[in-house]
Amino acid sequence: CGIFAYLNYGVNRERRYILQVLFNGLRRLEYRGYDSAGICIDDSSSPSPLPSPSSSVNGCPPLVFRQEGNIESLVKSVYEEVAETELNLEESFSIHAGIAHTRWATHGEPAPRNSHPQTSGAGNEFLVVHNGVITNYEVLKETLIRHGFTFESETDTEVIPKLAKFVFDKANEEEGDQPVTFSQVVVEVMRHLEGAYALIFKSQHYPNELIACKRGSPLLLGVKELNEDLNNGPALHDDKFLSKNGHPKELFLSSDANAIVEHTKKVLMIEDGEVVHLKDGAVSILKFDNAKGRNGGTYARPAS
Ligand code: GLU
Repeated sequence: CGIFAYLNYGVNRERRYILQVLFNGLRRLEYRGYDSAGICIDDSSSPSPLPSPSSSVNGCPPLVFRQEGNIESLVKSVYEEVAETELNLEESFSIHAGIAHTRWATHGEPAPRNSHPQTSGAGNEFLVVHNGVITNYEVLKETLIRHGFTFESETDTEVIPKLAKFVFDKANEEEGDQPVTFSQVVVEVMRHLEGAYALIFKSQHYPNELIACKRGSPLLLGVKELNEDLNNGPALHDDKFLSKNGHPKELFLSSDANAIVEHTKKVLMIEDGEVVHLKDGAVSILKFDNAKGRNGGTYARPAS
């Protein structure tokens, strides 16, 4: 029922802060109604076993937390698990892509396995939070089962991350040395989806990137640029990213402006059929209909 994502780029943030931003985002979506909630953050303590096609950095295995009930029960369960696993809340990230969801169940009862993020399966290679309904999920599910996928939830959503993995594996088999980009994967997934959706994708194969797209459900992008006087800027800025990739920023995606405006007034409404790619501090927005084989334009529409 509500989706939210937070990506800090070149801005050092502690895990504790990142969790707070994600939880506060969910709290701002609460009024829309929900029966369960979930988040995904990075576990940098163990490097990913997966080589990344798009980056020299290997991604971190994603940590997924899902809980039935209200936001505070999710918050409580996350901190309990953090204490048990001794995950360091003080650990600082100069890039981190976190996603979050509040669910209003349409397919499958409220339960942790039906909460989002839904995943591609063991290893969590692709993760998705979804607002809306996929009307052709049954036929997609049958096809994916025929290709060896096993399903853990009763949701319509679970076909999406599994389809992403299917598309990714197939593209890599076919294309050899030309690695498929995250947005190519998502555009191919969108081709198969019917119904209404706003989606945010996170993947271990594309560390520090997020993709969002929509058809029929609301989606907004918030950009908080920290470009004031970079040379004299505080230690907040990580030069490694600045010199190559421009300004540090914090990027937000949400189904509701409520969750973004406490961070920035620079909010852009995403239109139906648009695919928003957050990568290396840049925002690219592709049009689904003509996205195939093209890089698409860089974010140029004026923010309102
Ligand atoms: N249809 C999805 C589900 O039941 C998403 C529901 C929502 O928008 O929260 O899991």
